[in-house]
Amino acid sequence: MIAENDKEHIWDEHDSFRDHLSTVTEDGKRKWIYPTKPKGKWFRSRSMVAIFFYALFFTLPFIYVNGRPLFLFNFLEGKFILFGFAFWPQDFFIFGLIMMAGILFIALFTNAFGRLFCGWVCPQTIFMEMLFRRVDYLVLGDAQKQRLLGKSAWNSEKIRKYTLRYGIYFILSFIIANTFLSYFIGVKELGKIVGEPVGMHIGGFSAIVIFTAVFFSVYAFLREQVCTNICPYGRLQGVLLDKNSVIVAYDYKRGEPRAKYKKGDYAGLGDCIDCNQCVNVCPTGIDIRNGTQLECVNCTACIDACNFIMEKTGRPKGLIRFDSENNIADGIPFRFTAKLKGYSAVLLVLLVAIVALLLTRKNVDGTLMRTSGMLYQERGTDSISNLYNIKLTNKTMHNFLLDLKPSNFKGRLELVGQSEIRMLPEEQVSATFFVIMPKNEIHERKQKIKVDIFNKNERMNTMSSTFLGPVSRTDDE
Ligand code: SF4
Ligand code: SF4
Repeated sequence: MIAENDKEHIWDEHDSFRDHLSTVTEDGKRKWIYPTKPKGKWFRSRSMVAIFFYALFFTLPFIYVNGRPLFLFNFLEGKFILFGFAFWPQDFFIFGLIMMAGILFIALFTNAFGRLFCGWVCPQTIFMEMLFRRVDYLVLGDAQKQRLLGKSAWNSEKIRKYTLRYGIYFILSFIIANTFLSYFIGVKELGKIVGEPVGMHIGGFSAIVIFTAVFFSVYAFLREQVCTNICPYGRLQGVLLDKNSVIVAYDYKRGEPRAKYKKGDYAGLGDCIDCNQCVNVCPTGIDIRNGTQLECVNCTACIDACNFIMEKTGRPKGLIRFDSENNIADGIPFRFTAKLKGYSAVLLVLLVAIVALLLTRKNVDGTLMRTSGMLYQERGTDSISNLYNIKLTNKTMHNFLLDLKPSNFKGRLELVGQSEIRMLPEEQVSATFFVIMPKNEIHERKQKIKVDIFNKNERMNTMSSTFLGPVSRTDDE
């Protein structure tokens, strides 16, 4: 039997983890992590999620809806497409709301389920752990062999294996870089960069080279450092998590005091046999038994490893599991807290606003302004005209032949230098026109007017401006 104060002493000994980083040696050098290949129920599920992710990532740029890519983030031209909806500079407030909703959703999700996103959906982890790490196992061997090879002097075997490993890394990085770039410029443009002489696409070619170099560096050298030290989302865990959050957690009540496995009676000892398997599989090199740590990406590799040990030693599974600190410490199950309710309510409001804005969005949008620095012009004896500039954006993939008509006034519109406004798909056009109004229709010196924009019989938009004129004599009298 172990006395209660001895239990506390054993627990305190493990607190030294706070004094150092898991990936830095005592003398301040990088400590390379060679995690054991995970296996188990959670790893199989994660592999399925990864395959689904790869299928999406590599095929989405090729999916076009009504002539448009499903997703496009063209920062250079200020054009963004989400789920086939194009967002132009006029729509940036909708785009901004979508971004806000995304951030809020992540905060809500993190508060409820911790860093689950990192281990299961984040492209960094999915590529690192489920693709590049597999290359390591394939080319270099298991964790032990990788460690030995890493420490050994350069010899023909090491050169051969590392060359092969980094060669595959480079090819994968090149493929990922091309796909990644296609989300910004579209596959058609990417096809031109790849298929035409380099000289015609210096910018695009440079982007491919830079992206390939960045991905190669991230997966070959930075690796887990991206999750543990660079990613700002990881740094936010401290404020987003609370004791109600369900995360990958070690049941210290059940596991402590840990002791090496011995067959037979282990009365007074915890279920943890201190085999270190949960640490060996951890891709960020931490010991989950030390409690919640920012470095944990909730990849569940330690759950699989520990469940395997529990099964082998005839103890119940779930010593490491998805659970909350509240439940482990005091048996309080997960609750939909006021914080979660607050996040959900705001998220709901944002989603309703986004849907409403998307549904009422105009296919032809733009700005209408009276030409600056000009007053009104006399037109014959009975009319006054004002000059206007209109800038229009066709947000659709259709051709339009637009007609401008008075909406809330009697008068006529006269285009300058053109007889019609033709718009090609996703085109932006400008036009100049006169509004000509009979004097007896002018009631104020500065009158609000509205102009309807028609395509055939369909009203596409109505725009407002002001009309300057002398006050009508009839109204003056
Ligand atoms: S502690 Fe467990 S869940 Fe967290 S990163 Fe390490 S192996 Fe993954
Ligand atoms: S794998 Fe389980 S039993 Fe082994 S050290 Fe980790 S928590 Fe303890």
